[in-house]
Formats: sequence, C-alpha cells, structure tokens
Amino acid sequence: MGLSIPVVWTDSHRLHDPKTGVWIGVPIPADELPERAEAIRAALADAGAPVVLAKDHPDDALLAVHDPGLVEFLRGAWEAWQASELPRDPGQPDVVGYIFPTPGLLAGLEPRVPQALSARTGAYCYDTLTAVGSGTWAAARAAVDAALTAADLVLAGAPAAYACCRPPGHHVTREAFGGSCYLNNSAIAAQYLRDGGCTRVAVLDLDAHHGNGAQAIFWERADVLTASVHVDPAHGWFPHFLGFAEESGETNLNVPLEPGSGDDVWLAGVDALLEAARAHRSEALVVPLGVDAGAGDPNSPLQVTEAGFRAAGRRLGAFGLPTVFVQEGGYVLDTVGPLVRATLEGFEGGRKE
Ligand SMILES: [Zn+2]
Repeated sequence: MGLSIPVVWTDSHRLHDPKTGVWIGVPIPADELPERAEAIRAALADAGAPVVLAKDHPDDALLAVHDPGLVEFLRGAWEAWQASELPRDPGQPDVVGYIFPTPGLLAGLEPRVPQALSARTGAYCYDTLTAVGSGTWAAARAAVDAALTAADLVLAGAPAAYACCRPPGHHVTREAFGGSCYLNNSAIAAQYLRDGGCTRVAVLDLDAHHGNGAQAIFWERADVLTASVHVDPAHGWFPHFLGFAEESGETNLNVPLEPGSGDDVWLAGVDALLEAARAHRSEALVVPLGVDAGAGDPNSPLQVTEAGFRAAGRRLGAFGLPTVFVQEGGYVLDTVGPLVRATLEGFEGGRKE
C-alpha cells in the first residue's frame, strides 16, 4: 500500500530563490533552496501520495494571524526597494535590514515606522539572514494557500493532509519575520482550523528549532496549545533568545534538547508534546514538520534517524486526531524527501493501530 495522504503543492514556491543572506555582516550562500521542495514532492509521489494543487484563499486567514503592517510591507517590499537607490548604491539587490528597534534602543518608548526603506525593513524583520527577493512575496503567499488548502481537506473530513510549504514559516511572529521565514503557514492553518469549527487546536512543532512564531502568536490563548521540541537555544542555536523550558505554561510547552540527543530522547520529547495535547483536549493537530533534526543536517546537532522520524509519525497517527502537516526546515537535499516520507508513512501506520 502506498501513501494516501494528500500532498498540497504549488509551483509558485520556485519564485523564492534569494541567493544570499547576511550573517554577522558576511554574505552567505542560501540553503533554503527550491530543490528542497522538489525533492520532497518527488519522494512522496514515488511513495504513491496524491498531489493536490493549492487553491487561492483570500487574505482573511493571513490577517487573522499577522499584523496588517507586516503583510503590506512584505507585499510591496521588493518593488519599493527596486524603485529606491539601494540596488545601485550601495548595491544590495534584495531587501535586507540593518537597524532593529530592540528594547535597549527604545528605552520603553513606542517605535515609529521609519521613513527610510533601509530602516523600515528592521521594523518588520528581526534578523539580517532573511532577505526578500523578487519572488519572495508570491512564493510566501502561495505557501499560505498550500497550508490553507491542507486545512480545508482536513476540515472536510480527511484524516490528514500535508502542505509542501516553502518558504517555511514557523519563526514568524504576529508582526515580524526572520529565520528564513516570511509568513507563518502553520499558525495561519491553526487559526483557520479554529475558525472552521475546531474548538481546541494544538500546534506540535517537530522542527529542530523552536517554534517561536506560534508561541508568540498564541501566547495568551487557551484555545491553541503551542508545543515545540528542539535543540536547546542555550547551546547557541537559533532563535537564541527564545525556546527555553521556563517559557512553558498552561498552553505552551518547550522541550529543549541537548545537542546529539538522538532518537530516544527526541521521541520522549515528541511524547511530551502529545501528552500536552491530551491534557489540552485538543481536537485537531497542526504539525510544523521540519526534518532538520535529522542526523547530518548542518542546521542542527540533533541526531535523529529515519527510523526516529518514522516512529514520531507513528505516535502522531496513533493519537488519532485530524492532522495538518506543514513543511518547515530540513536542508540536506538527499535526505529531506526520505525523512518526510518516513514520517508520513509512520503516521498512516499509526492510524491503523
Ligand atoms: Zn529548523
């Protein structure tokens, strides 16, 4: 039996292809590449999964989660940048921030939205890594449509659907983007499930990095549980400032792991997320599915094997709730497809238990 979970797809992801980000002042090659999504789709189609095209959705679901200022900035940023002198002098073709309204700068005052475009970027973007290129808005907006189409399928009764989203989204807060993410696809899907009639939703983030976006967006909400298992930011990993165990509360759980944790420790973390969803009495799951916890991924030191991802999928499937999977990280082109496939095959096996 092949995979039966629908894979929601959009060709528009290819429009997002920035060649560089800036890290500690140095341009570095991009690693969130179009080839990632193509590799995942190929692996899932090989396994027999049906591919469904993403349907257009109005902005309502987007604006239910994100500040209108962020959305409008992203929609027009690249064109505004091209119309400015910045691509010629000093010669930066993509939108990259340089000044950021940190609490230390503001000293308690409300930040203004700066007049200069070069500075305005910092009002909405919190790092220098996450450049906006010519097709970034179109791709990010299409990724939202993919996540919403997967949510539609689940609201219509499918046990699960997988959105092959790119660019990823789980680091985006209500008002700010960063971490190679622009719009929070999984948080938007979670709010959409709420608006579609699911009373209590859990966002269980398996990406190797903390799901700080959903944590921030739903921080004061009892109806949406946010839980994340990830490499401990105390060991020097993105997003550095957030993702600590002390941030856990009634409807937020962080499970930070030591570098090199491997399958058993990581799966115990996945169990803790599911236990939190059980206590929350969630009625549906959104799973931001990064596979960068995989052994050999340069973006995290967690050493999870393909068998580990399969076992995580099995646990999620056996949990028995309607589930929307949303693709997040995973950067090794040879393994990103097999790891997603193993997770979804595990899920379908677990459903039958
Ligand atoms: Zn990640």
